[in-house]
Amino acid sequence: MSLDRIKGQEKAISLLRAAYEADRLSHAYLFLGADGVGKETTALAFAGALNCEQGGLTGCGECAACKMAAGLSHPDIHLIFPTPTTLKPAERSELIAGYARDGFREQDFGRKTAIVSVETILTEVVAKANQRPYIGPWKVFIIADADTMTTEAANTLLKTLEEPPESTVIVLTTSRPNALPSTVVSRTQRIQFAGLSRSTIEEVLLSDARLGFDEKTAGKAASLAQGSAGRAVRTDKQGPAVDLSRVADLMVGRRTKDVSSLVNEATALAFRLGRSEQQRLLELMMMWYRDVLKLSEMGDAATPHLLYSEHVADLSRQANAMDVEAVGRLVDKLDDARRAIERYSNATIVFTSVLLDMAIARKEAATKRGTRNAT
Ligand SMILES: [Zn+2]
Repeated sequence: MSLDRIKGQEKAISLLRAAYEADRLSHAYLFLGADGVGKETTALAFAGALNCEQGGLTGCGECAACKMAAGLSHPDIHLIFPTPTTLKPAERSELIAGYARDGFREQDFGRKTAIVSVETILTEVVAKANQRPYIGPWKVFIIADADTMTTEAANTLLKTLEEPPESTVIVLTTSRPNALPSTVVSRTQRIQFAGLSRSTIEEVLLSDARLGFDEKTAGKAASLAQGSAGRAVRTDKQGPAVDLSRVADLMVGRRTKDVSSLVNEATALAFRLGRSEQQRLLELMMMWYRDVLKLSEMGDAATPHLLYSEHVADLSRQANAMDVEAVGRLVDKLDDARRAIERYSNATIVFTSVLLDMAIARKEAATKRGTRNAT
């Protein structure tokens, strides 16, 4: 993709372009920002543009270099991303082919932990960085989600960052810069990526036919996406309509009436969903409570702004019964839970704990309402 076609990251791209034009490109960049805002897409476009036969850091899209870059088959552009250690080379090639076909997309490896291993850094970066570019002029290494590098991998990469080979640019991407060793961060030029506006996400979804959106589905997905086009695509893939009524069931405790059904439900969520699906679910649960808060603040006027508009009766019941503070605490707990899943905490425990907290809050609200009705 041409750098000019990337939406919502004009500032980041103008920094790269200014450095290129002043002939002051850094040997290593750190692209930081939330998941799904275009860090990897920009890194790939940047790598392609650097190698475009037309020059000028745009990427003409027509020359042989641009075509190879778009197909992720350019011999001087290397994409490294976290995978489970059990992944076979053929499966890795299959993933790369998938990225070339569908655009870079975060992979869900389910319950397997995906990392960038020291072996990967040695074979994919260190060994290749010391060779000349094949067709050049630039060799580019993109390490996506660089915070998943093991300590050993990061230390190995550090040596290359300290003595950067000529005509080489290394781009690290991360949504969790604090998880990267400071020694690595300090040797990179940081470039911040912005969250995307709802209209930008709609544009992104509609601009790429491969994503399969129309005006209506793009609008709906963008409104759920909280600044991330990647999230909009994932939500759509999982089918938001199904998701929402299932989430609504959870939120009113329809299938978790006692402790054992609650633990069963938590176990099912922990085992059936991959980690990114679990995080997505927790986000949708938070958005339920945001709807509750909207209703308690604005009353019926909130109805057109609700995500769970089909469940307005259940939402209103909770808005009337629950304290705003109690709802706020549940939102915080869900956010903590989402982060716990990100850190690979035990998902059964995480879900049991949040489902229990929600059940207790509903029970307290019901008791209070009972007392109020009795007096
Ligand atoms: Zn070109």
